[in-house]
Amino acid sequence: MSKQLILALSKGRILDETLPLLADAGITPVEDLSKSRKLLFDTNLPDVKLVIIRATDVPTYVQLGAADVGIAGKDVLLEHGAEGLYEPLDLDIARCKLMTAGVTGQSPAKARRRVATKFVNVARRYYAEQGIQAEVIKLYGAMELAPLMNLADEIVDIVDTGNTLRANGMEPRELIAYISTRLVVNKAAMTMKHDRIKPLLARLESAVKKRQTQPIE
Ligand code: AMP
Repeated sequence: MSKQLILALSKGRILDETLPLLADAGITPVEDLSKSRKLLFDTNLPDVKLVIIRATDVPTYVQLGAADVGIAGKDVLLEHGAEGLYEPLDLDIARCKLMTAGVTGQSPAKARRRVATKFVNVARRYYAEQGIQAEVIKLYGAMELAPLMNLADEIVDIVDTGNTLRANGMEPRELIAYISTRLVVNKAAMTMKHDRIKPLLARLESAVKKRQTQPIE
């Protein structure tokens, strides 16, 4: 196994909150990520490299050992499954909720419900647990459109402020899970590279704690 530590970071919204946290933990990329089309970056630490990939690919990279450590939303981890991964730390960033939602004022269909979502595994599990018959339809984006276009009765999606739902005539219904960003570690790497992963974990943990105890301005 290589001596280097590869850290897989989720692109997009999570990345904007991850980089300041990594900086607090003493890890900074050597070049400006936003000014580069590269996907693999050196950091100030000679044995730590960053790969910037789609959020949904992070668990796969870490599970299969292409990356040792990953940073991904709990929504993505719930959908992917946790096989081959440890999830040792809640980074307490990008907090939001995974919820069902439907057209405002409309009560959910009583019989078989059609549900549009990109979280098909989470949705199937949730409706089965609730004893609700559901036909789950996979979409890749713009879930809010599905009930308006009569493609679905309900959606399962990420809700933060609820503005996106409201702007589309929809309202949140049931909470499925509270979501935040997590650190995940490849199980084999946790053993084989323990001497490198342990200090990284400790630095991140103390950076998270420090933020949590800082007074809100
Ligand atoms: P909001 O309008 O504030 O409820 O934000 C909802 C939209 O923003 C959803 O469609 C999500 O795709 C996206 N979103 C909000 N928070 C997060 C997050 N922490 N991680 C990923 N996507 C998010």
